[in-house]
Amino acid sequence: MIEEGKVKRTEVMGLYKVWSSMIQRCTNHRNAKYPEYGGRGISVCDRWMDFDLFYLDMGDKPFPDAQLDRINNDKGYEPGNVRWVSRKENQRNRRANHQLTFNGATKCLVEWEEETGIKANTILTRIRRGWTAGESLGLAHREPKNKLTEQEIQQRSRSCQECGISFTPRIGQIKKGKGKFCTTKCALAYGLRLRWERERAGKAS
Ligand SMILES: [Zn+2]
Repeated sequence: MIEEGKVKRTEVMGLYKVWSSMIQRCTNHRNAKYPEYGGRGISVCDRWMDFDLFYLDMGDKPFPDAQLDRINNDKGYEPGNVRWVSRKENQRNRRANHQLTFNGATKCLVEWEEETGIKANTILTRIRRGWTAGESLGLAHREPKNKLTEQEIQQRSRSCQECGISFTPRIGQIKKGKGKFCTTKCALAYGLRLRWERERAGKAS
């Protein structure tokens, strides 16, 4: 049997953690999240610097993974601007609120999604891969990075040892002494045939 007092304390402990993390990311310069919060002017209202008053306004966490979400992303932690959301929803919001500037216009990813038809998630993945803003939004032509010139293709072009079709191996393959077959399938077929021929020769002698 669980004592009622014990349950209550664990719940409050969870809420205390939420509260202290909020204070930390808004006030502690050494906090990893500070640049996204305190660093950009997001603060905790005076009232909520007091845990008891915060508890009075927000109550217990409504579910275990509940996190604080600011309704207006540019305003701070204060009564009326904060609600409980799941961790997952919070992550989704954070991705969508990610700001991106292109051609002098700064918008959040949801707005860019509405404008370009490219999903906010896709845009963010592209940014993280090092694409420029324009490329990520499909508004600037993206130059394929590893595109070979005609000359390079001719220099590296060779015919497959198994099927004979001509193909262009990657530099990495050539350096490893590979690049003799157009596909893995041909490489396997070649290996099998060679073994089979050896076995047959062995039997014949
Ligand atoms: Zn082949």
